[in-house]
Amino acid sequence: MALLAIKDLHVGLESGEKIVKGISLEVNANEVHAVMGPNGSGKSTLAYSLMGHPAYEITDGKILLDGTDIADLGADERAQLGMFLAFQYPHAVPGVTVANFLRTSVNAIRKAKNGGEDDPIKIPDFRKQLATEMDRLKVPKDMMGRYLNEGFSGGEKKRVEILQMAMLQPRMAILDETDSGLDIDALKIVAEGVRELVGPTMGAVVITHYQRILDYVKPDYVHVFVDGTIVESGGPELAEKLENDGYDSFLKG
Ligand code: ADP
Ligand code: MG
Repeated sequence: MALLAIKDLHVGLESGEKIVKGISLEVNANEVHAVMGPNGSGKSTLAYSLMGHPAYEITDGKILLDGTDIADLGADERAQLGMFLAFQYPHAVPGVTVANFLRTSVNAIRKAKNGGEDDPIKIPDFRKQLATEMDRLKVPKDMMGRYLNEGFSGGEKKRVEILQMAMLQPRMAILDETDSGLDIDALKIVAEGVRELVGPTMGAVVITHYQRILDYVKPDYVHVFVDGTIVESGGPELAEKLENDGYDSFLKG
């Protein structure tokens, strides 16, 4: 059984407009899949619908996580079952330190797992886990006391995102890498973090329109996503084709 199995998924907007038009995809532990497509093709819609964003309506199909259909569940329930969508906080959060933010997100998952009752992690346990993961991901110590995203570079935001992923230990990480703020530094941080964290208990889907990120992520599978459907799937060699030819050869005339 695949860790994540997306079966003929259709997603529409509240207006009724169809955006994702029948996607099927299986992702296993230890695998990194890249979903690549031009702007406006529906990549973020796919990412949000996997996570349960209320603005995106799943009109047909299944999303099986460890065999459980999560398509009708709320975002918090999906997170509890192990779905992770890298957060995109465009704004600073005054007064909330990185450490506080991470502890809050760890506790949110613990609460959901505990049937909705608070079950906060003990501070020494949190500190220990955080220190271990920061070490593993080479996050500078001084980041923890800084206010979330206040004056953060693109790369620093990505560090927090990857660190959050490490702390939550999801089954399936969905990373929607939008075009904004992705310099080479940030790309490398995401790529190295994904590679470090994906393993026997976790898989990842990296969604992006940037061919360049594939140089760093080195995905096991590449899917070309155009106008709401996957038009071609392959191995890393498909990334090379994209790098050379762009999306033009995949666009319908
Ligand atoms: P991508 O991430 O590939 O650039 P998106 O999923 O963001 O594509 O967008 C696909 C289409 O859906 C676009 O036409 C976009 O304007 C539209 N769209 C996405 N989300 C919304 C939304 N919340 N409200 C209205 N239109 C949306
Ligand atoms: Mg997008």
